[in-house]
Amino acid sequence: MTTPVIGVLALQGDVREHLVALAAADAVARPVRRPEELAEVDGLVIPGGESTTISKLAILFGVMEPLRTRVHSGMPVYGTCAGMIMLADKILDPRSGQETVGGIDMIVRRNAFGRQNESFEAALDVQGIAGDPVEGVFIRAPWVESVGAETEVLAEHDGHIVAVRQGNALATSFHPELTGDHRVHGLFVDMVRANGTAESL
Ligand code: GLN
Repeated sequence: MTTPVIGVLALQGDVREHLVALAAADAVARPVRRPEELAEVDGLVIPGGESTTISKLAILFGVMEPLRTRVHSGMPVYGTCAGMIMLADKILDPRSGQETVGGIDMIVRRNAFGRQNESFEAALDVQGIAGDPVEGVFIRAPWVESVGAETEVLAEHDGHIVAVRQGNALATSFHPELTGDHRVHGLFVDMVRANGTAESL
């Protein structure tokens, strides 16, 4: 595969920051709102924002079902914060009408850090990211309450799981797109590249 084309689900949230981070990590990045746009990308980022809003807009735009189909058939996907919630097979405290795409066998608690601390930063050791710790920016962030046997825990903060991977699906409670450190996006771009290569064999 040459340069992978990676979409950012552009219904609500910090879309622009992810487009910039992906471009800096050597991907071609473009916004995705409609099923036709989703069909054209090699991988997808689901940004931070408000998971209930993203869920409702995804249904409204007719992109929820195609998204589920692609994620469950192995398209690489990366969710940050609200995006992590969207990738959870189960949410502990969903709002009414809130659905997820699923794809990661985990139970997520929305706004878990938020009650104690609306927003904070913490240095994190993230598996698969070499060098200095990753600066984690947490904004009304969820944490992962529990994971299934297939889900790898990549990082914890204060005893709570904040980064996970299951197969081609990656999720973080925090927002690497806000720090100018593109290593987590680089990890995701590598996942997309590896998947593209496998497909073209
Ligand atoms: N608390 C938000 C939610 O439930 C997530 C916050 C974020 O993405 N920064 O969707």
